[in-house]
Amino acid sequence: MRVHLADHPLVAHKLTALRDRDTDSPTFRRLVDELVTLLAYEATRDVRVEPHEIITPVAPTRGVRLSDPKPLVVPILRAGLGMLDGMVRLLPTAEVGFLGMVRDEETLKAVTYANRLPDDLSGRQVYLLDPMLATGGTLVAAIHYLADRGAARITTICLLASPEGMARVDGELTGLDLPSTLVTAALDERLNERGYIVPGLGDAGDRLYGVV
Ligand code: URA
Repeated sequence: MRVHLADHPLVAHKLTALRDRDTDSPTFRRLVDELVTLLAYEATRDVRVEPHEIITPVAPTRGVRLSDPKPLVVPILRAGLGMLDGMVRLLPTAEVGFLGMVRDEETLKAVTYANRLPDDLSGRQVYLLDPMLATGGTLVAAIHYLADRGAARITTICLLASPEGMARVDGELTGLDLPSTLVTAALDERLNERGYIVPGLGDAGDRLYGVV
């Protein structure tokens, strides 16, 4: 898995405010939205385009447009939903699918409870949205799910990643013949005994949706 760590003062500034436990839900949602748009700019660096002829008011010229099939954006429910608006702002013609996964807090294993995705993802570039790469269980399960349906390339955008989660995803994807990239705003120190990222930002879903 190729890893791209966003190294930008604006990303660091917004992320610091996001981590702050005194940041309220409306501000948290707005910051996630802004951060995702910044990360999406990096994540779409390899989006497929094709030549496209146009005529400007001055002269004919050759540019590019997004190729078909259009990219598929897949937020992992629940917390990934908070990243969707920021992503489709940059890719308004993308299709959107949904994958519902929840972490069993005892086993820390990912369980799939919902999916709204095309059955056939052959040739599709998929952008997977999940704010926290913690144990890596959810991401590994999601990537296998998409790979089984034929996805051609998967780019995951997350806000924070743990070293343990990154190592696990890397290890478990070895042998999977699928180009995979991770774009993240930061690589944190570690996971704690409850599987939370340290220093992290707490439970991303709860903070997005105001659950206390
Ligand atoms: N999920 C979260 O929302 N936060 C963490 O720190 C780990 C997993």
